[in-house]
Amino acid sequence: MQSVNHSKNIVEVKNVSFSYGSELVLENISFDVHEGDYLGIVGPNGAGKTTLLKIMLGLLKPASGSISLFGTSLSDFKDWRKIGYVPQKATNFDSGFPVSVYDVVLMGCYNYKGLCCRINTGDCSIVERVLKQVGMWEYRDRLIGDLSGGQQQRVFIARALATEPKIIFLDEPTTGVDKKMHDEFYDLLRTLNRDAGLTLVLISHDIEKITEEAMHIACIDRTLVCHTSPEEFLKESESKNMFGEKVKIVSPHHHAH
Ligand code: ADP
Repeated sequence: MQSVNHSKNIVEVKNVSFSYGSELVLENISFDVHEGDYLGIVGPNGAGKTTLLKIMLGLLKPASGSISLFGTSLSDFKDWRKIGYVPQKATNFDSGFPVSVYDVVLMGCYNYKGLCCRINTGDCSIVERVLKQVGMWEYRDRLIGDLSGGQQQRVFIARALATEPKIIFLDEPTTGVDKKMHDEFYDLLRTLNRDAGLTLVLISHDIEKITEEAMHIACIDRTLVCHTSPEEFLKESESKNMFGEKVKIVSPHHHAH
């Protein structure tokens, strides 16, 4: 069973603000993600969740404030192999995209080696291991575009795992994933966190599920509304009616961590 190491900060977000042009999207956000944590980021559409994720990954630069990864300021951070990212748009391939599942994951190995490096047998065994880890090994020769949204998502998780990261950031897709796949996606994340010891940061649209699964919840609505346990988040969101009727059907789930 995975536990959170509160003495080890993997991500530190300090007083971060961001604007697209004159639109202030994030205002003075601060929180930490510790080693072994599973953080669910929730909030209404357009609240700034994806923007925040991109800032944590160095894809967007905050107007003010700072980010540290593994104790190093983002501007000096070089060890990108430790960071995995599964964007929401990962599942938008149409059929006919001429790349096999195997090659998509192999490209994940190149991401940190650079394209000049040749494929070696080590890479091949990594591809096999991560595809088996996400339950997609038997699909290795299929074209990525021929898979369902949920299956594609597993392949992109495998690709993120190929660099043997310590933390994975995921933006949960809202479309193309049926209920069964959705549940299996959360089962996979639980295994990666609890058994493989990966730290997870997941933007989720499923309040019911994420409050069952995550260890902490950060609720974003331009500002950081709260960063707390799922139980506290549910109590708070119910009393403020933050998500309408939806969360009222959820009874607080008791975590073993
Ligand atoms: P969320 O992930 O919570 O739905 P986003 O971070 O995607 O929110 O977007 C936050 C706000 O910023 C929204 O109002 C959105 O329209 C706006 N926004 C997002 N991306 C861009 C962009 N590239 N240019 C201008 N505005 C953007």
